[in-house]
Amino acid sequence: MSEGNIRRAAEMLLRGATLLAQPCPYCSGVRVMKDGRALCASCGSEPENVPSPDPEPSVEQQVLELTRQLGSTTDPALRQRIIGEITRLSGEMATR
Ligand SMILES: [Zn+2]
Repeated sequence: MSEGNIRRAAEMLLRGATLLAQPCPYCSGVRVMKDGRALCASCGSEPENVPSPDPEPSVEQQVLELTRQLGSTTDPALRQRIIGEITRLSGEMATR
C-alpha cells in the first residue's frame, strides 16, 4: 500500500470524488471515482475499462462440460450426480 496513492485518493474525495462500490480488479482495494476515472487507493491503478467478471456459461456449455466429466469418471455416485445435473439442465433448456 502506498502513501502517495492514499493521499491522491483522499484529495480526489475532497474534490467531490465518490467511493466506488466495486473493489479494484487488481488488488481488491478501495477505489474512488472522479470524472469517469477510477483510482485505486491501494495499488494506484486507473483501469480504462474495468474488466467484467466472466459471464455465466450457457446451459448448453454446462451440459457439454458435464458430458465430458461423465466420460472421464467411473465413480458411480459421481456419475449419478452428473446425470442428475444434465437432466436438470436439459429440462431448463426445454422450458426456454
Ligand atoms: Zn488496486
